[in-house]
Amino acid sequence: MTGLRRGLRLRCPHCSEGHLFSSFMKVKDCEACGADNTAYPCDDAPPYLTLFLVGHLFVPFVFMMDKAWSPPMWVMFAVWLPLITALTLATMPFMKGAVVGLCWANGITRETARQ
Ligand SMILES: [Zn+2]
Repeated sequence: MTGLRRGLRLRCPHCSEGHLFSSFMKVKDCEACGADNTAYPCDDAPPYLTLFLVGHLFVPFVFMMDKAWSPPMWVMFAVWLPLITALTLATMPFMKGAVVGLCWANGITRETARQ
């Protein structure tokens, strides 16, 4: 849970002091302890987890709106697309941080993942 918690806070899983990302979601070496956080593979897990979470949050409301008012398709897109896009972009860094933290906690690096 330590790695997960530190990753969700977007902090280095080693020391919890340094920042995990240098830009939006670019993993960097820790400025506090020097740990190589780029060694932990994330691959497709953060987008998958983000879409899983965001999809399960929004899809019931999309169906409820469609069932209740039957709005035209352009209204559905105008309402839901910005909301879903915003929540996806807001959630993705935290999911990536969580995956890096889980990889750190379980000792999964790019080298061990290849074997
Ligand atoms: Zn660190």
